Amino acid sequence: SRRFFVGGNWKMNGSKDTLGELITTLNTASLNEETEVVCGAPSIYLDYARSNLDPKIGVAAQNCYKVAKGAFTGEISPAMIKDCGVDWVILGHSERRHVFGEDDELIGQKVAHALESDLGVIACIGEKLEEREAGTTEEVVFEQTRVIADNVSDWSKVVLAYEPVWAIGTGKTATPEQAQEVHEKLRAWMRENISEDVADSVRIIYGGSVTGGNCKELAAQADVDGFLVGGASLKPEFIDIINARE
Ligand code: 13P
Repeated sequence: SRRFFVGGNWKMNGSKDTLGELITTLNTASLNEETEVVCGAPSIYLDYARSNLDPKIGVAAQNCYKVAKGAFTGEISPAMIKDCGVDWVILGHSERRHVFGEDDELIGQKVAHALESDLGVIACIGEKLEEREAGTTEEVVFEQTRVIADNVSDWSKVVLAYEPVWAIGTGKTATPEQAQEVHEKLRAWMRENISEDVADSVRIIYGGSVTGGNCKELAAQADVDGFLVGGASLKPEFIDIINARE
């Protein structure tokens, strides 16, 4: 069975003061031990987050580059992330794809290098509104998943995050049925294109306007193995989301 996984994506938010408060809240809360929790911190606060969060809570970078070091001004490498004691990286997030123009090829290269560097990868995929309306959701998410899959050496280190772009930061959460439908199809795709074992064991988590109020219904879906949470991960309701399966 797949361990429930809840990631917080703080995006470009917070300060040492406000994140410090959030960290204290998380450290002292009663969290379902069966849930794996990982907080995605801005790169400049990775060290701060890792030093202050309880060790049972994981930390993730929100991006990294595809090589270990060199003349790449402004970038950080998986080796540096590991050096800060951080074990995860979020790759292929919608904002990296659509605000910063990262394409499938670059995301694939980043996934390969992050895994070679022994980071866990939260790999994000998801269709835009016009793609859903044109009926191409499956085609889009299968292709994004294929490029990621071509670059995965060890699936035990990968969590697949389905984040429909139209649901991110909009308050328009996918219905439990919409999320389940895509997650189920992704798992079937993995069964056919990767292996039975991988399809059964990889966590497929949902992201897009998840809140304390809608998390329980989503978490009850057979193929929803957790969440990637933006806005609500900065609030105390993140604890309710971590405990959605209790
Ligand atoms: P929101 O939860 O703010 O919609 O963001 C989702 C997301 O992008 C998580 O990576």
